[in-house]
Amino acid sequence: MAAARRFKAPIDLHTHSSVSDGTESPAQLIRAARVAGLGTVALTDHDSTAGWAEATQATLGTGLTLIPGMEFSTRISFASVHLLAYLFDPTNATLVAETARIRQARLVRAEQMVNRIGEDYALSWDDVLAQSTDGGTIGRPHIADALVARGHALTRSEAFAGILHWKAGYYQPHYAPDPLTAVKMVRAAGGVPVLAHPATRSVSEVVPEERLAKLVDAGLFGLELDHRENKPESVARLRELAAKLGLEITGSSDYHGDGKPNRLGENTTAPDVLEKIIEQATGAEPVYG
Ligand code: AMP
Ligand code: FE
Ligand code: FE
Ligand code: ZN
Repeated sequence: MAAARRFKAPIDLHTHSSVSDGTESPAQLIRAARVAGLGTVALTDHDSTAGWAEATQATLGTGLTLIPGMEFSTRISFASVHLLAYLFDPTNATLVAETARIRQARLVRAEQMVNRIGEDYALSWDDVLAQSTDGGTIGRPHIADALVARGHALTRSEAFAGILHWKAGYYQPHYAPDPLTAVKMVRAAGGVPVLAHPATRSVSEVVPEERLAKLVDAGLFGLELDHRENKPESVARLRELAAKLGLEITGSSDYHGDGKPNRLGENTTAPDVLEKIIEQATGAEPVYG
């Protein structure tokens, strides 16, 4: 007889706190997950596990299940490709070093972008620091918030569609490993890797079938196909590929608090799929609150 499940649905496996580019602290995010009626939530800040401890404390005694995770920045040429990683060992030396390297590269890149934007708009690096948390992962969202604070855009999304869009000429990439290396690192740390929002135009272009097959050979577990930024025409093709390659399918909100319109639980993952993630993971345990 199968053991009874310790986690509840609905299950949302992709959210961000102020440790990266979400607008709520990890504890506030856990409260928001409860208010939204979730049974299980994964915290997946960009390139950082710094929110795990606070999220764990906030989860205990609530009945919610927390899946500690991360959204690992990877890159193919100029295209950024995100890899969700669940239940890996947060003290794994390779991952600790690699994510520190990415966070540092993000910092340098953000400052360079701000210097160039500052030639055309009133904007300083201090403006951006004022929008981020100490030691947190810096990204374009923090520059966007600084642009909003300075009155150069009305919302984060408007800043992304304008000054921060690559077409505006200020965009710069930052160091990140290739996805194949990242998948291997996550597995080596006992984690379970899922390709985040793989049907956005840029990702589906840079990850054709042959490359996806190599990621599967290296240990890729699944594709996050139920996500608002995926393009329906690419989702249909990737669903067929997932069946062919034996990949699982996940769904999630990619909640960023007030930083994005995405709402908690707007897309969810099937309990059977989460069960497999927990079975395969050896690096960390879910937090059963
Ligand atoms: P970066 O990794 O620094 O290039 O910034 C990309 C991040 O910005 C992603 O994690 C997205 O979640 C976030 N982002 C992208 N587009 C938008 C948008 N329109 N509004 C708010 N956040 C966005
Ligand atoms: Fe983000
Ligand atoms: Fe992402
Ligand atoms: Zn995300």
